[in-house]
Amino acid sequence: MSTHCCAKSVPHHDSSFEAFPRVVAAWQERLTAGLNRSIQASDQTMGHLEEEILQETRAVERAVLEEAAQQKADAAPPVCPVCGGKLSRLTQGHERTYQARFGEVTIRRARGWCRRCKCWRFPADHLLGLAETGSCSPGVQEMAALAVSKLPVGEASAVIERLTGVKLPRATLDREARRQGRRAEGQRQAMDQQMTQGAGGEQLVPSLRLPAPVEPFILVIELDAWNIRERNPEDWGQTEALRQKGQAPEWWHWVYGGTCFRLSQRVQTAGGRSLILSRGTVMTRGGMDALRQQLWAEAMRHGLGQAAEVLIIADGAVWIWNLAVDRFAGARQRLDPWHALQHLWAVAHALYPEDGGAAAAWIKPLKEKLLASQAVEVINALDSLLKQLRGARRAVVQAGRNYLENNRDRLDYQGAKERGEPLGSGAMESTCKQYQVRFHRSGQFWTREGDEALMCLETFWRNARWSLLFPHVPPDFDPSKN
Ligand SMILES: [Zn+2]
Repeated sequence: MSTHCCAKSVPHHDSSFEAFPRVVAAWQERLTAGLNRSIQASDQTMGHLEEEILQETRAVERAVLEEAAQQKADAAPPVCPVCGGKLSRLTQGHERTYQARFGEVTIRRARGWCRRCKCWRFPADHLLGLAETGSCSPGVQEMAALAVSKLPVGEASAVIERLTGVKLPRATLDREARRQGRRAEGQRQAMDQQMTQGAGGEQLVPSLRLPAPVEPFILVIELDAWNIRERNPEDWGQTEALRQKGQAPEWWHWVYGGTCFRLSQRVQTAGGRSLILSRGTVMTRGGMDALRQQLWAEAMRHGLGQAAEVLIIADGAVWIWNLAVDRFAGARQRLDPWHALQHLWAVAHALYPEDGGAAAAWIKPLKEKLLASQAVEVINALDSLLKQLRGARRAVVQAGRNYLENNRDRLDYQGAKERGEPLGSGAMESTCKQYQVRFHRSGQFWTREGDEALMCLETFWRNARWSLLFPHVPPDFDPSKN
């Protein structure tokens, strides 16, 4: 069944594939027989034909991959792939088996000693993209990373098997996805460092910087945060013991996110919906410092250095405005209007606790004023109310008033409409919701490290940078265009 028993272990000098005629003949025979059975069976559909072709063709694909990969391995020069030095004590035929897209393939590689690095090297592994990995081919590495960043591991394992025929047990899949996640984190760190190192470093990843437009542009940054449920590994199995001691294990943690885009990249669809053609998102479980660093690098990629103006839009959380002042000094700030209105609604419900109609009637003119950039009049109206109120209701009105007062320089919604800017941070909020769909799947308990790694994979995917992680992916692949 395997082809390598009769393949030569010396390098091939022509590019013919010895396995082809034999494998193809066997494939043709099996496939013809199978298809004829399916065609004659009245209870079988085109689905059965698809399945038949898929199953029978896998054996050919596997054999072809094995032979092509072997030829590539044989062509690897006997030099150290790390330092370039000549390898000594060279021996051939070191077999290793990989899980590939079409089944298991076994490759025989040469091994040599690098005197400079003082270690054994397998030059073929580097050429094939199999260095520093487990037993998965690059295609299967990608499969594991993609499936586990979208689905819980158990489901991902079954979905992969059904869609591709690749059997990856849960433990293997989980391990491989984590490995890819850590690799993604390393890559992100290297990319972010390049941005902070300035002009020299940018050349290394030229595709990461959009060409700067000739016209002055506004760079929009939206920020938000959400909670993730995690389990501290040290607390595993001790939930009850901790609870009895009055120490519930920490379940919920903050995830910080930001997205940036040029205002010119925001367009209206035929249906009147806003669509952002190109934007960069960051999402991290690594705390405020990690967000600050990642967001700044992302903003640089989108032209922070050339932007005529930076606009930051977010809900009223204090950390956001602190970060804005700290990292984006001089940026214009805007409070998401729906968050401002929530505070007005709290006042409305305090004034008319039993009467939804009256509350709505009260808020209507104030909402119109707020959206017309007349926040001062809204604050004045609340001030007049305060003079007539005592007790709990007064406290609610006071809180609403203070909230608007604290944000009064962030409420120019009329100006935003006139300039064609987004009023609120809806783009970021919807992105956060999409991450939550995956990370809030019930029964999921991860660690901080696991979360950050998986989130990093998801972010590479969203930012259309998947091909930076998996070089065999076409560089123009962009999931947002699907
Ligand atoms: Zn070396």
